[in-house]
Amino acid sequence: MANKRPRVVIVGAGFGGLWAARTLAGALVDVLLIDRNNYHTFLPLLYQVAAAELEPEQIIYPVRTMLRKLPNAGFIMAKVTGLDPASQTIEVNGSIIPYDYLVLAMGSTSHYFDIPGAAEYAFPLKTLEQGTAIRNHILCSFERAVYETDEEKRQRLLTFTIVGGGATGVEFAGALAELIRGPLTKDYPKIDFKKVKIILLEAADSLISMMPDELRRYAFERLRWMGVDVRLKTTVSRIEPDAVYLGDGSPIPTEAVIWTAGVRGEPMAQAWGLPTARAGRVTVLETLQLADYPNIYVVGDLSYLEEDHHPLPLVAPVAVQQGVTAAENIKRQIKGQRLKPFRYNDRGTMVTIGRNAAVARIGNRSYTGFFAWVVWLVIHLLNLIGFRNRLLVMINWSWYYFFFEHAVRFIFPSEIAGAAQCSRERKG
Ligand SMILES: Cc1cc2nc3c(=O)[nH]c(=O)nc-3n(C[C@H](O)[C@H](O)[C@H](O)COP(=O)(O)OP(=O)(O)OC[C@H]3O[C@@H](n4cnc5c(N)ncnc54)[C@H](O)[C@@H]3O)c2cc1C
Repeated sequence: MANKRPRVVIVGAGFGGLWAARTLAGALVDVLLIDRNNYHTFLPLLYQVAAAELEPEQIIYPVRTMLRKLPNAGFIMAKVTGLDPASQTIEVNGSIIPYDYLVLAMGSTSHYFDIPGAAEYAFPLKTLEQGTAIRNHILCSFERAVYETDEEKRQRLLTFTIVGGGATGVEFAGALAELIRGPLTKDYPKIDFKKVKIILLEAADSLISMMPDELRRYAFERLRWMGVDVRLKTTVSRIEPDAVYLGDGSPIPTEAVIWTAGVRGEPMAQAWGLPTARAGRVTVLETLQLADYPNIYVVGDLSYLEEDHHPLPLVAPVAVQQGVTAAENIKRQIKGQRLKPFRYNDRGTMVTIGRNAAVARIGNRSYTGFFAWVVWLVIHLLNLIGFRNRLLVMINWSWYYFFFEHAVRFIFPSEIAGAAQCSRERKG
């Protein structure tokens, strides 16, 4: 007799997709999880990969290992390229896969706001490959600066510009300052580190605009104290291979522009004709369903939902809670029960800036400095998937804390970095 259990297909094994799959464990459904990678990436620590603080393997975890505990779930490693809601099918590598219920959890990509040259020459920070490419490029810049005899070119190699003063830009600027002013000064004794510049550009009049005032000021002061040249109310008009041009037309000569200024929903959803709101995010009902297709749910960064007239933030807790709600609603839908509207349970936000320095908003209270930093460390360590990863990350962090040394300073793999000659190869 044919299997009558409904099939739930989940696209994306990030925070939203994975938590949806976990919530469906034990339900009378067959779950098929699909991701273009065979691992889950813990994106909140990606900037530490880019700053040569953690190895890429320490922030990822194999999807199949996670699925061992979910007997009703299968996995396909492939990129989903098509969706036909009318026939309830998706397309994967030329094959058609039918679904009864679909959860789209494909996340987001970098948004360049049509700034000329940004997509071509800036380094985005959204995937493991991109984090590794940034690390390689930074280390390559120092390797090239060692033998560069032209003063102007050497200065360009030693200028690192970060565009976007949101949480990722602030965290990366702090980590980069610690890498450069710490371990790299020992590695490159011939380089004059007074000439190394880290510039953080932000269009608004403050950093981390989602944080209360005092926390924004703390982040600004702390980064400046760490030697980061923070420029507020500064826009970017274009990017070329050897310079970033500001809104007033003035250039900053640099070969390293790291883009953390904006994100948009994974563009494929728009290409499939799904209804999108701001920044290509898919508009969903409170139940996380599409208005026209009640058996399609969209969660995480890809979904657009407002609460109290504000769009929900693109953060991991929203994706996790939406993944859980979508899965619970699918179970209710199958039983013919009333669906539950999504409400975000916001426990707070935190951003780390560097050693002993972070900002945290927990409920209505604000914290800065050592206490916020310890809370940040503990929360990120506990949320990282895999005991081995937690242990290795803890060892890495402790090693750096006590010995001021980063364990990871490899330019590897060479295909990504163009490392054989540390050439001007750009993005990975
Ligand atoms: C550098 C960085 C730092 C961050 N720091 C924090 C932080 O400190 N705290 C916080 O709360 N949030 C942070 N975020 C945001 C947080 O990571 C996201 O909000 C969260 O990952 C969203 O979860 P998601 O499931 O929607 O998407 P993701 O976690 O991005 O997962 C999407 C998945 O879909 C897969 N996929 C995409 N397209 C396809 C396709 N066509 N076919 C198959 N698979 C596909 C991808 O491979 C990926 O595995 C950070 C993000 C970045 C980039």
